[in-house]
This record gives sequence, structure tokens and C-alpha cells, in this order.
Amino acid sequence: LNYLANDPEISKILNLEIGRQVNNLELIASENFVSLAVLAATGSVLTNKYAEGYPGKRYYGGCEYVDMAEELARERLKKLFGAEYVNVQPHSGSQANMAVFMALLNPGDKILGLSLDQGGHLTHGSPVNFSGQIYNAVSYTLSKETKLLDYNLIEDIAKKEKPKLIVAGASAYSRDWDYSKFREIADKVGAFLMCDMAHPAGLIAKGLLNNPLPYCDVVTSTTHKTLRGPRGGVILIGKDKENPMGIKTVKGDRLKLMSEIFDGMVMPGIQGGPLMHVIMAKAVAFGEALQDSFEIYAKQVISNAKTLAAELMALGYEVVSGGTDNHLMLIDLTNKNISGKKAENALGAAGMTVNKNMIPFDTKSPFVTSGIRIGTPAVTTRGMKENEMKIIASFIDRAIKNVENEEELNNIKSEVKELCSKFPLYPELING
Ligand code: PLP
Repeated sequence: LNYLANDPEISKILNLEIGRQVNNLELIASENFVSLAVLAATGSVLTNKYAEGYPGKRYYGGCEYVDMAEELARERLKKLFGAEYVNVQPHSGSQANMAVFMALLNPGDKILGLSLDQGGHLTHGSPVNFSGQIYNAVSYTLSKETKLLDYNLIEDIAKKEKPKLIVAGASAYSRDWDYSKFREIADKVGAFLMCDMAHPAGLIAKGLLNNPLPYCDVVTSTTHKTLRGPRGGVILIGKDKENPMGIKTVKGDRLKLMSEIFDGMVMPGIQGGPLMHVIMAKAVAFGEALQDSFEIYAKQVISNAKTLAAELMALGYEVVSGGTDNHLMLIDLTNKNISGKKAENALGAAGMTVNKNMIPFDTKSPFVTSGIRIGTPAVTTRGMKENEMKIIASFIDRAIKNVENEEELNNIKSEVKELCSKFPLYPELING
């Protein structure tokens, strides 16, 4: 941090952000705190290196060491999920998805994903995203009654729409996915099946949720959510499927075929030089996720989410679908007569960061919303457990009951700070 002292404007910004992260409760479901080792790799001299291409086949000289970093990231990622093929170069989850779509589809082809307002991601076919602009995007919804995936409904829609690609996975769904059912549906209509496991990847890695790789033609993920790595994306293909691209006529080396199609679409298809510092940081994070201690972490993430959901329900909050199997929950605030936007602001003023979120079949706009999304990956990284979840539930409840009461929101903020101080974040970094 001292290196930035010569630039006071930047130092100020950095210190403010450090203070925010240290003194607030980070409850955004898609965020986490990386280890100092991941931070070090992300801030390393590998940022200086151009390495267009892949290990052993670069367009630039001097790549012998960054090749080693990328090979390590690939091998560790394969081991983590039981993959036969991986690509660790996508700069983000969105770019991983873009590479897959462009590799498997032609412009105008039909894709079927969970719509944004039901919990899907922008890249699953939203009209404001490339996925909804280049492709003919149709969507499935959750069950109106249970707010759960309804496989009969998805099958009916798939049979009617005959998509070329079906997307499983979401940004705001608190339950597990039955990928074997998705596979059956995809096979019935002759569609590719892709899973975007960005949110629960870290929990899947430790076997706590279903693994999509054995059932899907291709799987994408981000690396910075439950997986607790640097910001980035990856593409994976499992070992079990014989003909992942459905190209029945192509003979020969299946692995070579996969790497030609997907590697070629990531680079030169949609990206130039890979972020080698980030790829090394991915390798570090995958190494951490392979350790037994990560299983303890992942189990605690789920246990914390279940406790927080149960406590909030006991306080009269409606948790969409009645609970959670993973790291997140959606709170429907309709019965509290407050919008997601107002709740997000009140919680922010009280030192808790969440995001407003549409609930399934929401009647409010995405800028207002009827709900908030809450996740436990980051607070669990700080070492918080079930007891702290109970305290956090009471903080949330008090803030929502006092949206207009600045004094009370300030009181909660002080108590949040006090709680955070018992679970120090990056103490080595901050205490020099
Ligand atoms: N896929 C899902 C399911 C996500 O939730 C997200 C991000 O929130 C992404 C993809 C996109 O990741 P990125 O922000 O790295 O582009």
C-alpha cells in the first residue's frame, strides 16, 4: 500500500474502500474476500506479460514462466471439478458465456434460459445483453406456487420452443439444480446443455451441491464468488460425455476437438491477451479450494445461510421458496411494505451491504424491486458462524423497521462495526 503514497488521490480512494470492507457486513451474495496469496498474485509482475495464445503455442516470446502458471491453473481446476477440458482465460463470467454461445450457436439461434426477473443472469438471454440481441432468447420461469424450478414446465417450454441451447444456472436461486433432468429435456429436443455455475461453484467443488459437469455439454463459471478467487471466468467440460459438441460426424481426438472449438473462440475469437496475473491468482485460489480447509469453509457458508434464513423467517420475513440449499436467499419484502430499493438503502446506512433484487413474478421494476438478495460467502470468510448470523438477522430486522430513523440506523452501524472488529479482515495488511 505504501507504493501508492505518491498518489494521494488514489491512496485516499483505496483507504476509503479498505475502511468500507473492514467495517461493514458484506452480504452481497456474489462477493467474497480473497486470501492474501490471491491478492499478491493479482498484484504481481505477471500483469506485465503479453501471452496471446495458449501454453506452448504463444504469439509472444518470454512466455515460459507464465505458461507454467496457466498449466497449473488448468490442472488444479480440472482436479477440482473432475473436468477433462478447461479454459482459464475468460476475463469474466460474461465472457466465458459469450465464448460458449459463439462456439456452439449461429446468430439468430434460439437459447432457453431462466429469465432475469426470475433469478437468471443478464447473459442468459436478457434483451439488454448480447445474449438477447444476437440470439433468439426465450425463457423459462419458476413455479408460481413454490418458486422452485418446475421441470415439467421447462420441458413443455423446451418442446414448444425447440432451442438449440438450454442454460441451467442462475444468479438468485437459493436451491439446488437437478442437472440430470435438464439433460433429459435437452436430449428430448436435441439441444446443447450448458450450466453457468458461477454462484455455487465453490460449494459444488466440495461436493455439497450437485455437480453439473457429468450432465452438461459445457459448464461456465466465475472464479470470484463462492470459489473465492480473483475476478474472472472459466469454461469446463466433464469427462463423461462422449460427444459434447453433438458433432456426430467428427472423428478423432475428442479433446483436441474441444480445445480447438472453445480455446479458439476465447482467443482469438473474443479476447486478446490473457490476464496472466489473474490466471496465476486463479491457480492460487484453485489450490486453496482443493484443500480440506475449503470444505469446512463451504459447509459453514451453507450452514450460515440456513441459519440466517431461519432467523429471518422467525422474525416474519418471507424467504422465497421457504429457505436455502446454498449460499444465498431472496427476501420478499411485500409483507413488510417496503421496496427492495428502500431496504438496500436502509441496510447500507446501517453498515450492511446487500442488493435489491426482483423476486419471481415481481410487480415492481428492476430499479425498485420487491426484494433483496442476501449471501453468506464473505461474512463466512471473516470467520462468522451461526451465532453471528442470528445477530445479523436482528440487525437487518431493526434496520428495515427503522428505514426513516437516521439515528437508529446510525446506532446499528456502530454495532455492526463493533461486530466486524471481532472478525478482522486482512489484519496483516492493515497493521503493516
Ligand atoms: N453468470 C452468473 C450466473 C452470474 O451471477 C454472473 C455475475 O454475477 C455472471 C455470469 C457474470 O460474471 P461477470 O460479472 O464476471 O461477467
